[in-house]
Amino acid sequence: MSGLYFLVAPRLAAPWRAAPTRNPDTLAHSLPPTPVLQDPRGRPLHDLRISVTDRCNFRCTYCMPKEVFGRDFQFLEREALLSFGEIHRLVRLFHDQGVQKVRITGGEPLVRRKLERLIEMLAYMDDLDLTLTTNGSLLRQKARELRDAGLKRVTVSLDALDDATFRAMNDVDFPVEKVLEGINEASAVGLAPVKVNMVVKRGVNEHQVLPMARYFKGSGHILRFIEFMDVGLTNGWRMEHVVPSAELAAVINAEFPIEPADPNYLGEVAERWRYLDGSGEVGFISSVTQAFCSTCTRARLSAEGKLYTCLFATQGTDFRSLLRSEAPDEEVSALIRGVWGQRQDRYSELRSSGAVNLPKIEMSYIGG
Ligand code: SAM
Ligand code: SF4
Ligand code: SF4
Repeated sequence: MSGLYFLVAPRLAAPWRAAPTRNPDTLAHSLPPTPVLQDPRGRPLHDLRISVTDRCNFRCTYCMPKEVFGRDFQFLEREALLSFGEIHRLVRLFHDQGVQKVRITGGEPLVRRKLERLIEMLAYMDDLDLTLTTNGSLLRQKARELRDAGLKRVTVSLDALDDATFRAMNDVDFPVEKVLEGINEASAVGLAPVKVNMVVKRGVNEHQVLPMARYFKGSGHILRFIEFMDVGLTNGWRMEHVVPSAELAAVINAEFPIEPADPNYLGEVAERWRYLDGSGEVGFISSVTQAFCSTCTRARLSAEGKLYTCLFATQGTDFRSLLRSEAPDEEVSALIRGVWGQRQDRYSELRSSGAVNLPKIEMSYIGG
């Protein structure tokens, strides 16, 4: 396959570089008219990703390798987790500060008991875009109750169609068929379009790129390829494991011609490309090769209530203590404004310039 990359990559190089650029000035000017909380780089606080648990029933080798997250690993105790009431209160206050999109994540969010209760509590904010990222293992059983609770859409992570490759990557021998059933059920109950995220790791699942594209093309689901990232300290990341999006796009273009599509909104993480034959689109999340810090509008809340303003942040701000000290809403809101008002993060840009080597936290702790 690498020969093919070599042959087709130059053909796509120009359109790829000409793909929609992410301009922070345009972003700032396109904001809603309400007073918007911005960081010193002009980036509004638009998205909140909430990890509801640090536990997971998978041990994906690039995220929670078994050697580290084994039987003895100390996960958070139940009382350390934010309760649904605490999460609900924070979401209300973040929403007041301009957050328009909330993504529930983890660990594996569907292993948190009665998650549909939380969805129900959040769904009443009907101008809030509420979604969830899952490994799909429990989705077939849970899709309907999540939809009934008010969830609108779901993103499912799936790294291969080939069963042996998938089982090796999730490292708990989980069959691909069950995830596909979960995707179908989600779509059938109306959690659509389903977005499917595939992390591509060189030498591990790059041979699955075309089978995945072929399978999801024309299905109504949107496949997105994610560059393997250097999150955390346990996944043994090396640059040579990254398959650049440009290379993936070239491979797909050679088989199924694609053209760039406009972003749905400014600050969108995935670059959209549509199939020329009208059979849908694919996305590329190029966190390593095309840093998008300049339009990054996302904050992340860990399962124990620490707020991180970057996926690669080394320290979070403790909101749980404040909530449990019965601080009034104004005090919590002031902390949100204070944290965002000082935010300078741009890790991926610095990585691109070779200027960083920081201790980092794990993706399963902070959520994707
Ligand atoms: N367990 C859920 C799941 O897998 O969808 C939600 C949490 S998971 C941490 C969120 C996303 O992060 C998944 O799509 C996963 O593939 C992605 N992810 C985890 N580690 C990654 C890494 N090192 N590089 C790129 N993406 C990663
Ligand atoms: Fe679990 Fe998701 Fe991490 Fe895989 S990527 S180990 S499913 S949290
Ligand atoms: Fe956002 Fe940090 Fe990722 Fe840059 S490195 S895009 S600031 S999360």
